Order: sequence, then structure tokens, then C-alpha cells
Amino acid sequence: MNMKRIPFWPVFLLALLLSACGRPAENNDHTMNGMIRESPSPAATTSPVAGSPLVSEAPPSASPETATEEPTPKLYRMNDAFRFEPLSKETTNKAVLLTFDDGPINKDILLSLLDTLDKHEAKAIFFVNGYRVKQNPDLLKLIHERGQTIGNHSWDHINLKNESEQSVEQQIGDLQTEIESLTGEKPKFFRPPYGSGGDLVRNTAKNHGMLYMTWSNGSLDWDKSTKDKPAEVIRNVLEQLHPGANILMHELRWTADALDELLTKLEEKGYSFIDPAAIETNR
Ligand SMILES: [Zn+2]
Repeated sequence: MNMKRIPFWPVFLLALLLSACGRPAENNDHTMNGMIRESPSPAATTSPVAGSPLVSEAPPSASPETATEEPTPKLYRMNDAFRFEPLSKETTNKAVLLTFDDGPINKDILLSLLDTLDKHEAKAIFFVNGYRVKQNPDLLKLIHERGQTIGNHSWDHINLKNESEQSVEQQIGDLQTEIESLTGEKPKFFRPPYGSGGDLVRNTAKNHGMLYMTWSNGSLDWDKSTKDKPAEVIRNVLEQLHPGANILMHELRWTADALDELLTKLEEKGYSFIDPAAIETNR
């Protein structure tokens, strides 16, 4: 008899708990928003599997799962200076966007970046080049499978400003197609090489459904002055730090070595990391 009755208690308690959950959620609205503010990517906390380097073995069928997920609410808008502003007063302006350009090149460096991002529950945009993707398709898939965002940085990393309409279309469009064929998704963000583009480049990116951006905080990690010097990368970013900063970094060893300390220091200053999925792209 007892054996039959026992299972009802957990079910009953669970039902009680569930019915109770609905009401306090409304009362605690501010708390809930606060939590979202601090961690703009709730998906990261619910899928720790994304941290496993073995995910690269997973078949590309991972995308149907993500397709059924709730879309991330939009929390930030980019302004004309490529900085990010909260869409509502409920959202903190002490947040930065992390970006890594010019990959994918090296598995060890990339894994180091991905692991550090996971450690800080941070999301970033990896602005990739087509010729690199062609060399390292598995690394591109790895970025996608680890839950990070892929951006379009043109096929050949040339200065697009003086290219013909046909060339610009190829440089941008061919990479869109390539990335979609490997990950199932087309990028929503575009950054021109050297930050150099005119109306033609902007319009082409827009026609491909992408938000065009350069940056507002250069880490100078590509410069000779920071080569092999992680401390310099950190110093440069902190020196130029401002609310809504759009931080430009690259897939480089010294940047990967700097990242954990850099993110820790940003967190200590009260900054959180903007989930690219929370950025308004239809502008
Ligand atoms: Zn670049």
C-alpha cells in the first residue's frame, strides 16, 4: 500500500512548486530582469555541454535543436560610432562586445579563446575570412558548435573601399554562402577589413541581412607593440574602455593568453559581455 502512495508525494510537491513558480515570477520581475542584465546569455548556463571540445565530433544536425530555442530578446542597439546602447533602462550600459577577427587559423589558440569565453559565460563574434574558412572548415564549425557567433569579414581580407560592385558582392556574398553551407546559418554581422568601406560595402552588407560595424576599442593586438605581450593587450583595452565598447581583438596567441585576465578585470569593473544575439540587427 505504502509503495503505491509514496510516488504521489513527489508529484504533488512538484505540482505545488510549479503552480507557485508562476506568481512570484511576476512579483520578482525586477530581480528577473536583473539576472538577465548580468548574464545576457541564459542559453550559456543551460547548456554546459557546449564547453566540451568533443562537440566538434557532433554531426551538423545540431542546428534543428537550436532552431527550436526561444529567440534571445534584443537588449542593445549599435549607434553610429559602433558603440552599444541599451534598448531600455532596465538593461545596463556597462557592457562590452567582444570580437575576434581574421580566423579561423589555429585550433589551439581558438580552443583557448573558446574555453576562456565559456569560463566567463561570455559570448563573442568571430569575424572570419573566406580563405581561412576554406583552409579550416572544422574550426569554423567548432566556433558555431561552441555557441559563439560567426561574423563575415570578407573572403580575402582586402581593402574593399575601392573594389568594384561585382568584387564587393563576391567578397561578401561568397562567404555568406560558404558559412551557411558549413553551419546552417548566415552571419548577421559584417566588419570590413581594416575598417575600410564606403556606401557600396555598407549597402552590400545590408542587402545580405548584416549589421555593418567597425569597432570603438582597438586592443592593438595586431600591432608590433603588443606582439607576445598579453599585458599590453589588457592595458590597451582598459585604457580605451567605455560603456558599450565594441572591442576589436584577433585570433592571436598573446590575445588568447590575455583573455582570462582581461575578462576578469572587466567583470571587476562591473562590465558584462553583450550576447551578439541580443543586438538589434534590423536597422
Ligand atoms: Zn581583419
